[in-house]
Amino acid sequence: MSKPHFIIRNRFQKRDYTYRDLLKPAILKDVCFRLTGRRDYSATFDDAGYNIGRLAELRHEGRRYFVTFSESEAGQGRNYSFQSVPSALNTWAIETHGTGNLYFYFLPTVGNCESAYFSFMYRLMRTMGVVFMNADSCLVSPVVAFNSIADLSLTRDANRSRNSSNNSSYITIGEDRSVQVYAKTYGANKYESTLLGMALSRLTDESIDMYQICEGGLKQLPERSLQALDIVSGGRIKVIPTDMTMEIAHFNESDSLRSPQYMYNLLALRGMKKCSLCSCDVPEIIQGAHIWGVSQIKHTPGLSLDKKLKYALDGENGLWLCENHHKMFDANVISFSMDGKVLLRNNLMQTQKEFVEWATPNMQLPDKLISSNAFKFYLSKRYVA
Ligand SMILES: [Zn+2]
Repeated sequence: MSKPHFIIRNRFQKRDYTYRDLLKPAILKDVCFRLTGRRDYSATFDDAGYNIGRLAELRHEGRRYFVTFSESEAGQGRNYSFQSVPSALNTWAIETHGTGNLYFYFLPTVGNCESAYFSFMYRLMRTMGVVFMNADSCLVSPVVAFNSIADLSLTRDANRSRNSSNNSSYITIGEDRSVQVYAKTYGANKYESTLLGMALSRLTDESIDMYQICEGGLKQLPERSLQALDIVSGGRIKVIPTDMTMEIAHFNESDSLRSPQYMYNLLALRGMKKCSLCSCDVPEIIQGAHIWGVSQIKHTPGLSLDKKLKYALDGENGLWLCENHHKMFDANVISFSMDGKVLLRNNLMQTQKEFVEWATPNMQLPDKLISSNAFKFYLSKRYVA
């Protein structure tokens, strides 16, 4: 019977040692034993090209196991430890057509590998089906997969409030009940976006709209990521590129502007969908309400298209309102004073007044919202004489 055989690309892109130096025989022996029950193995270290994804492939009895290894150098920044995981997932998905699992092996490491952010990423990986080979000997807490999109989304939000810089992508449910991901796709963010998309596809049988939010020019997820997302989700992830051309089209077509960029900016600034006036948080019926209305902006003389778009897309120029409150706001049944008090239209009948008051537990906008000068600016524009 032939021995299990490792095939490993030997070269790092940017380091002066190789995978042969990193993956000592004791490590490969352990990996081999955990996967096949055997400790004897052979290995080929291939010097062609670079090792993308910190990957080793183990072949045995017609099976192919893909193993990715944790980062073992300390102090390289928050995303650093996970940069290779999406690339590893891409290779695994493309090579195996998404069958079996990707395996993750912890190398001896320096520093804390169980921060809230790390734990979140492990859970994403587990949700995606990544098997942690030696977590029991390296982590204090077990890695538990998320059990629903709400579970994932809430954990992520809790993480975010601890670390305000953690804001590269957002998950919500659209008014059409679709699962929506608003994801930045440049730099390190693209790694998280890919992983997030894959994990989500394991938590729903529905299709997922993934909006690629670009900043500073059109950026798309790498071709291999798109291909892998498609394989893993069985074609259910619709990756939707966005750019200013599309935003301009939205702006011209509609006065309600629920464009991807506006939604992204609101999620980033105001947090998850929740009506500011009644605290309803059923995402399907929460809308982004413009303060200085899109139609008003469009008809303001002397503004360039660039300026108009800037105002229309600004997260400061909006708040989350449920459908009821959005309608009341747009119909001037309710309005806001400059210090954020909810005002009722004078000519409402007593029964109407009572209903609106009953439906509006929060008659004062939160300080965080009204303390911003931009918010006051937009309010003054809405109620300009
Ligand atoms: Zn409401």
